[in-house]
Amino acid sequence: MKKTDTIAAIATALGESGIGIIRISGEDAIGIADKIFSGSKSLREVDSHTINYGHVYFGDEIIDEVLIMLMKAPRTFTGEDTVEINCHGGILILEKVLHAVLKSGARPALPGEFTKRAFLNGKMDLSQAEAVIDIIEAKNDLALKAGIRQLSGALTENIKTIRAKILEQIAFIEAALDDPEHYSLDGYSVKLRKIVKKLITRIEYLQKSFKDGSIIREGINTVIIGKPNAGKSSILNLLSRSDRAIVTDIAGTTRDTLTENIKLSGISLNITDTAGIRETDDIVESIGVKKAIEASNNADLNLVVIDGLLPIDSEDISLLESVKDKQAIILINKSDKELKVSVDDIRKYSDKEVIIFSAKDNTGVDELENMIKAKFISNEINFNDQIIITNIRHQEIINEAMESLEMCLSSIDEGYEEDFFTIDLLNAYEALGEIIGETVDDDVVNEIFSKFCMGK
Ligand code: GDP
Repeated sequence: MKKTDTIAAIATALGESGIGIIRISGEDAIGIADKIFSGSKSLREVDSHTINYGHVYFGDEIIDEVLIMLMKAPRTFTGEDTVEINCHGGILILEKVLHAVLKSGARPALPGEFTKRAFLNGKMDLSQAEAVIDIIEAKNDLALKAGIRQLSGALTENIKTIRAKILEQIAFIEAALDDPEHYSLDGYSVKLRKIVKKLITRIEYLQKSFKDGSIIREGINTVIIGKPNAGKSSILNLLSRSDRAIVTDIAGTTRDTLTENIKLSGISLNITDTAGIRETDDIVESIGVKKAIEASNNADLNLVVIDGLLPIDSEDISLLESVKDKQAIILINKSDKELKVSVDDIRKYSDKEVIIFSAKDNTGVDELENMIKAKFISNEINFNDQIIITNIRHQEIINEAMESLEMCLSSIDEGYEEDFFTIDLLNAYEALGEIIGETVDDDVVNEIFSKFCMGK
């Protein structure tokens, strides 16, 4: 095996904390750590996968009292000998320990280099390495679960199965063209058509999952619209349980738009509160109104707030009509008092779902949560048997593979020669290989790992 550099980095977030970890990986990891460590035994003599108490020195100076985790290749994250020094979590201590490690022969790791080594040493494929970033960046429970599932190799297995089926057909066509005496292509196109159809169904399933995937990862872009004083800011406050939005009695005080990320039953909502959408002469406010309409047009979901204490008026009607072709939920707010607006009143102008709501006493929040979930997550996501595509790179590749398979299908239907099928099948095969990193360019690999944080 080629000798590689030994790399080291601070693997935990910089800041004051209970512990901080320096990670060292490479052929000399144990020797380098041993040079600066003093414990009851030399690290060269201890067993793999043990934790060892002692002190780290720089020259004669004790830097810290530490626990050293020692893991020998190949049963490690990177597949190389790995040492993790658990120090106290001060920035100065961590920097001093890292300095000592570097002086003893390691070099600073690049961002993502530990995970890149894991990929290059066959410990994980590219989609699993990407899952590591997703897990670190996960903002809600479902995103975390999707990441963990991808890390466990679920996507890899699925892609490998599809590729194996494609390869089988390529091999058969090649064999038949080379050796027509032993392999007959009679009636083959009918058989291939069925197989390609099935593959397309599998890929369609992955394509569909991206819709859930992007919602899980990015959140549902939601805007709250309604005329001034309907209670938009109060609802945003209630949902975000914070006081960031300004709640006031004066009509038109939410001048600009304000977006908050809110976690709701495991999914994220990026909620934008807008200035009251209405005709106005006030210049500052009219900019806000323009932004509100823009936000509403680009949103995944509109929450239309109706002031339940005032009879429905022309402003409410035009709002209800403006969301006719959009995803929307209507909230009749202020139901803690006697309402002047009924569901039937709304029905005259909109067929969207309506919730009797009160920002003041929390009425309707559960119903709203359930409704949003039902609208956006196609069915109860069960990560045991489902693969969710959350990564845009994967989505593009899957679309590309789909195009090739569809081209193959039309070549079959148009009665082309078999070697035309091979071209399309091969394109699909190679495209899918990019997801797991089998047919991927070095540039793409470098680009992916450069997105990692230091020490990962
Ligand atoms: P916005 O202009 O639509 O953002 O409305 P605000 O959230 O600023 O609320 C306007 C006024 O309505 C404030 O005085 C709130 O306290 C009041 N308000 C908001 N929600 C409710 C509610 O559910 N019940 C009652 N009774 N008053 C509410």
